Amino acid sequence: MRTTTGWRATGPETVARTQLTRRELRPDDIAVRVDFCGVCHSDVHALRTHDEHAGAPLVPGHEFTGVVTGTGAEVTAFSVGDGVAVGNIVDSCGTCAMCVAGQENYCRSFPTLTYGGTDRVDGSTTLGAYSREYVVREGFAYALPAGLDPAAAAPLLCAGVTVWEPLRALRVGPDNRVAVAGLGGLGHLAVKMAVALGATTTVISRGDGKRDDALRLGAHSFVDSTDEQRMAEVRDTFDVVIDTVSAPHDLAPYLRTVATDGTLSLVGYLGQVTIEATDLLMGRKKLSSSGSGGRPGTAEMLRFCADNGIVADVEVLPSAQVNTALDRLRRNDVRYRFVLDMSDLG
Ligand code: NAP
Ligand code: ZN
Repeated sequence: MRTTTGWRATGPETVARTQLTRRELRPDDIAVRVDFCGVCHSDVHALRTHDEHAGAPLVPGHEFTGVVTGTGAEVTAFSVGDGVAVGNIVDSCGTCAMCVAGQENYCRSFPTLTYGGTDRVDGSTTLGAYSREYVVREGFAYALPAGLDPAAAAPLLCAGVTVWEPLRALRVGPDNRVAVAGLGGLGHLAVKMAVALGATTTVISRGDGKRDDALRLGAHSFVDSTDEQRMAEVRDTFDVVIDTVSAPHDLAPYLRTVATDGTLSLVGYLGQVTIEATDLLMGRKKLSSSGSGGRPGTAEMLRFCADNGIVADVEVLPSAQVNTALDRLRRNDVRYRFVLDMSDLG
């Protein structure tokens, strides 16, 4: 086993520095020195719901960039020294209809998650990238396009691809009116991507505090979701609403903003939802959801971002300040993604 240093859960809200092990390289594995790892709201949810007595430790982190430091005997796509990016899926069966279709994110025997997943070879629990090294199958690592800042690119691999997937599946383009609900890590990347795809883009956010940022990010208009009159004005107007809200919430106000035959794409909080069927009925509206993206979609998203100069707006902190980042993320005090600089782990 290889040893490295990282940050493991010590309770529902905190992590502490720890030693951890990585597997020896299998023939199709690469070892990655993790340089930058984004802090996703999913990490907050995972810490809160983690059972400390479950056995395996929880090491969060599933959107990272770094440099290849070792290659297995059969690796062809990467060499030592290459810049790479890895997201929230690190393996899948490779043979089911979903995998064959390039939607490994929906693998019928469940994709292996970057942390808290079950390794398909040895059955161990995967440990995430709040650490200095990660070992991954080469097929689930992506060449980091030249020209993308490695710290600001890290969030593309979870936040970015998660919103790219519905934008592409719903064929968003210049003829569409798109709204993004919740201006956080996912939301601000959804705005940049929707604008770059040519859509007329609106941000729906609580209060007025993020209005200037929304317009700076390229949005064409801004709606305060707490302003009933403004919400009434945008009733039935958006072809696509990307809902990135991180907490349980009533979908009805957002569904009302969807245009006839339009879609509310729920990619934020993924717990149980209750809807009134009439909120769909009135305008033949659709409710959809998705998680992450497959390998072709992820590669396409990275190319699109490189071509359009899209990266996250990040606040980079030394990894030793990870608890500060988690705390501020819980309090919605982030514009718009924390990224941990892992170089302080040696
Ligand atoms: P984030 O940076 O914290 O942003 C979430 C945003 O939601 C906040 O900025 C806030 O926007 C809004 N919000 C928070 N609480 C709200 C409430 N009670 N009512 C209305 N709006 C509220 O989080 P993130 O990292 O973007 O993640 C967002 C969600 O996506 C999380 O639940 C995460 O687990 C999930 N996620 C899903 C996938 C997937 O594969 N589907 C992947 C990654 C993350 P305003 O301040 O603008 O109101
Ligand atoms: Zn994530």
